[in-house]
Amino acid sequence: MIKSVSSGRPCASPVGGKPALSLPAASKRRSSFLKCVILALAVLGMSLFAVHIACGAILILEDKPSYDLSGYLDILSDPSQRLTVEQVEDRKDWMQTPPGRIPNLGFTQAAIWIRFSLAARSDAPEKVYVSFEYPVTQVVSLFTKDRQGVFSEEHTGSGMASSANVLPDRHFVFPVMIAPGETKTVYLRVQSASRMILPVRVLTDSALVGKAVRDYAIYGALLGLLALVTLYFVSVGSFLYKGTPIWLAAYGIFFGLHTAIRGGFIRMLLPDALLPINNPLQLIVIAGLFFTGAKFFRLFLSLKSRSVVLDRIMLFFQYLSLTFIILPGLPEPIIIGVSLALIVLNPLFSISLAFYFWHKGVSNAGLFAIGWIVAHCVAVYDFFRIHGFIPYQPLGEWPIPFSLFAALLFLSMALIRRNTLDHQMAETDPLTRLANRRKFDEALTEEWNRCQRLGSPLSIVMADVDHFKEYNDAHGHKAGDLCLCRVADILKSHTRRTGELAARYGGEEFILLFPHLDAASAFELSEAIRHAIGKPAMDPASRSGRKITISLGIATAVPAEGAKPEELVIKADQALYEAKRAGRNRSAAAAPA
Ligand code: GH3
Ligand code: MG
Ligand code: MG
Repeated sequence: MIKSVSSGRPCASPVGGKPALSLPAASKRRSSFLKCVILALAVLGMSLFAVHIACGAILILEDKPSYDLSGYLDILSDPSQRLTVEQVEDRKDWMQTPPGRIPNLGFTQAAIWIRFSLAARSDAPEKVYVSFEYPVTQVVSLFTKDRQGVFSEEHTGSGMASSANVLPDRHFVFPVMIAPGETKTVYLRVQSASRMILPVRVLTDSALVGKAVRDYAIYGALLGLLALVTLYFVSVGSFLYKGTPIWLAAYGIFFGLHTAIRGGFIRMLLPDALLPINNPLQLIVIAGLFFTGAKFFRLFLSLKSRSVVLDRIMLFFQYLSLTFIILPGLPEPIIIGVSLALIVLNPLFSISLAFYFWHKGVSNAGLFAIGWIVAHCVAVYDFFRIHGFIPYQPLGEWPIPFSLFAALLFLSMALIRRNTLDHQMAETDPLTRLANRRKFDEALTEEWNRCQRLGSPLSIVMADVDHFKEYNDAHGHKAGDLCLCRVADILKSHTRRTGELAARYGGEEFILLFPHLDAASAFELSEAIRHAIGKPAMDPASRSGRKITISLGIATAVPAEGAKPEELVIKADQALYEAKRAGRNRSAAAAPA
């Protein structure tokens, strides 16, 4: 349990006076009562606040594994960065921070001193760990006084070698010993090139280890999965010579680096010689994250081909993101302006666009839009959290890697589905949804080789609608299209076994592949198809009383060494010609080879 104990400094207690009343009797009484209640509440609230603000607090260590120190901190700014701990010890202008709120001082060149007091129980000494939990802070130093009144100091930080770490942890952790009954005042000195956010926590050793194990497991799993997803898209992109998967992979890499830097892991992995790149790397990675995200957005939605203006706007955001690299050198209003443009305007614009294209029915824009929204809502939340618009919560770290990972999954799904659809479309006839000629040729070669190995027969049936020109002339092209779709459906319903395939060969001509089917069975099947098509219900314009008929040519062979599948196609075509010549609406088989 945490107890707050007055440090002995006087507490301010605001005084409230009675308001003057000048209203008619009944309403006068009611309104004065109301005013009294409001005033009383205000006085109560203010005095509670004043007690907390004005009285320095000492954290008494009891049986809890971990304590949030945000309500126990005094803060002093040192713009010269020159003050020593002995000098700040005597200063009277320490500011107390409000409880329950992690101090967030924005970008500052000043060194910030933090002071707090820990009290051990009277019966046993305490060894605790002071953990400074904003891993992108350049220098963090801890000062404590020993019994002789001499200060000892320890230094670490994201700008320093991890070998300088007092303890190997992604946060900056310092052990502190407190004798039984002792109250120890601890000083932290912090310097930061990014935001000055001051989350300080005190932990027991078992809590420290437990937290490290949990954090490393979660981050390890997330980053491992991310590496797999990224690797997959790099290989897909390079095998297919496609840019979109590569850009998604790049987005994933930057997201992983961003998570690892923000989580404090990169610093632990970097060799000391490379350490100076740790802080600039953070900004380069954010720039890369936005740059690759915008590029992927433009490519996935084929923005340029839909609207040059919209594409230009997105291109502007894409290149604006590069200013992140030089951001700390710019004045704060520009930093806020650029950040707002990229982290508020850019998501608003791109999310609206994603929704718009979803609404317009662009393929997989739905999945894409969901991924995009998840990624950006979290980025906006993080922005507001880091910039102090909403309270900085220590647990607020977790939604970010998880949601960004979820976003990446949605974007990956959208891309995979898009690629699958593209692949399917490249092999499908757009009108009848049957396979196209290209797909048929591929399948024929494959089945031909299989039948050759097995010594099995292979049949091909070529079919052509009779007098289709007349049909078109009589009923119109639209009815003709519908008729072709119905023929296609019937052909498809007759190719159900593995390896069988119906394809549109061109115009009103179709071709069917039947591996492992001998000549007699192929002839039977061909006749069954002809009868099914000849039914009056087949004709969408059947009020005319005419029937759709079809002629079919069949060729069968056991693929021989050196023979070519195209020869069998030519034979089937010749048989079809025979069927037409013999009067149409019939099947004709080519003579066996
Ligand atoms: P035959 O019995 O000798 O095959 O006579 P036919 O009229 O069917 O043959 P022809 O080759 O003279 O004409 C084929 C017609 O098929 C011409 C063309 O307008 C029509 N056709 C080809 N593709 C399509 C299509 O996608 N939709 C429609 N509606 N008609 C098509
Ligand atoms: Mg025809
Ligand atoms: Mg024809």
